[in-house]
Amino acid sequence: MQDIKDGQLVKNCSYINGKWHASSSEAHAEIEVINPATGALVTRVNNAGIAETELAVQAAKNALKMWSSKSANERSTLMRNWFNLMMQHQDDLSRILTIEQGKPLAEAKGEIAYGAAFIEWFAEEGKRIYGDTIPAPSGDKRIIVIKQPIGVVAAITPWNFPNAMIARKAAAALGAGCTFVVRPATQTPLSALAMAELAERAGIPAGVFNVVVGDDAHGMGKILTEHPDVSKFTFTGSTPVGKALIRQCATTVKKVSMELGGNAPFIVFDDADIDAAISGAMVSKYRNAGQTCICTNRIFVQENVLTAFTEKFVAAVDALKIGNGLTKGVTIGPMINSDAVADVAKLVKDSVAAGAKVVLGGKQGENESFYQPTVLTNVTNDMPIAHNEIFGPVSPIISFKNECEVIAMANNTEFGLAAYFYSRDIGRIWRVAEGLEFGMIGINEGLISNAATPFGGIKQSGNGREGSKYGLDDYLEIKYLCLGGLDK
Ligand code: NAP
Repeated sequence: MQDIKDGQLVKNCSYINGKWHASSSEAHAEIEVINPATGALVTRVNNAGIAETELAVQAAKNALKMWSSKSANERSTLMRNWFNLMMQHQDDLSRILTIEQGKPLAEAKGEIAYGAAFIEWFAEEGKRIYGDTIPAPSGDKRIIVIKQPIGVVAAITPWNFPNAMIARKAAAALGAGCTFVVRPATQTPLSALAMAELAERAGIPAGVFNVVVGDDAHGMGKILTEHPDVSKFTFTGSTPVGKALIRQCATTVKKVSMELGGNAPFIVFDDADIDAAISGAMVSKYRNAGQTCICTNRIFVQENVLTAFTEKFVAAVDALKIGNGLTKGVTIGPMINSDAVADVAKLVKDSVAAGAKVVLGGKQGENESFYQPTVLTNVTNDMPIAHNEIFGPVSPIISFKNECEVIAMANNTEFGLAAYFYSRDIGRIWRVAEGLEFGMIGINEGLISNAATPFGGIKQSGNGREGSKYGLDDYLEIKYLCLGGLDK
């Protein structure tokens, strides 16, 4: 952990009820955190399990009344302290993130600012949880609607955004007056634990924000999804795991939000600004080495601009500098591990066998955790690469003839998270935006997420929204009060 200025941010055990909790009861007492760029051991973290998850839920339950009865202003002040501390420690938090996850330092800094922005946003939104009055059907009654925190929230998050995927959920939960337990991905626990250290320094009371780190995903997941004291479960991860967790939540009829997989189309029409489309495709495809849920998965280019787009795009991808995210000038880091590289390599191999052509990359990078930025042409929408979430630095280019055809091709997926298209024709912009079956659409824009916007998908990409004025809804219950007997 070289060059971390504040060594107290690097923690090695779970944070439960305001205490750093080390357990020696598990068969495997420690988790090894590995730097994906070098394969080197970064540190070991105490391996919590079912017992610690139970403790964390209990702590969150015990803290609920205290936290939910604070005024929105009081909660907001503490959350703003947390936001300020995250920004003050942005450099250290970014280094920790790059070391455990791999993304280039500049991207990691962006993730810290992005995650912190949700804490700032919901610190304010919590002050605007308005109720309603409804005209009653008879004069002797009044109808009032109030909104209350749903209760204890449990979360499971993935490794690709080890800070922001937690911040997006915890900020909304805490802003709504809920308490929170998160189990971060086993590969990236350090960012989550650093957030807990800063939450404590910010004055967030014990039991309000708990982090349990352990490799028993199934066992800990069962507690978080089936515990009767957990009122709401929120998950970010793959669609198959999300489906299994929804089934588990059914046992106690929990409210769930799911941020699952995607298969984003990126459409370039012949009236597009091609240079702008190239910039958008680069940022939406190669950020985090292609490992984001809203990453472009299929690039559709209208046939009369196919050559112009492909030539410039290949040149832009070729200019990416692959390497250790801590090295200056590196713009694309490793993938999370060698299994992820093998999955991507297989998709490329199968595409080539089906007729695709590798025009750039197509090989493992400097070690088994790297895959070269790759561009494939001659791809068709029926190849496996067009139907699977690639989750790696590979761009398949598919040509199309007209608007109707490309909307049908883009929608031909069970996923519905993000889509992008480039056009300067206002009529086309409306038609295509309305025709695409996705929760978020970037129009002449490849970077679409921030705290002010409702992030989320439709179809099998999930349900619920994170961020924006809608983001609190998932953490609130609506209660209707009928005030009767008002006749004299
Ligand atoms: P994953 O395999 O579903 O894992 C996500 C989390 O679930 C990890 O913490 C994992 O723990 C845990 N998990 C796995 N199996 C579990 C089980 N049976 N019970 C309880 N928890 C379980 O997904 P991933 O490969 O890490 O992440 C990539 C996926 O996340 C992609 O599909 C991506 O699109 C999606 N994603 C979606 C969004 C969004 O907002 N829609 C954002 C980011 C990522 P371990 O770490 O111990 O395996």
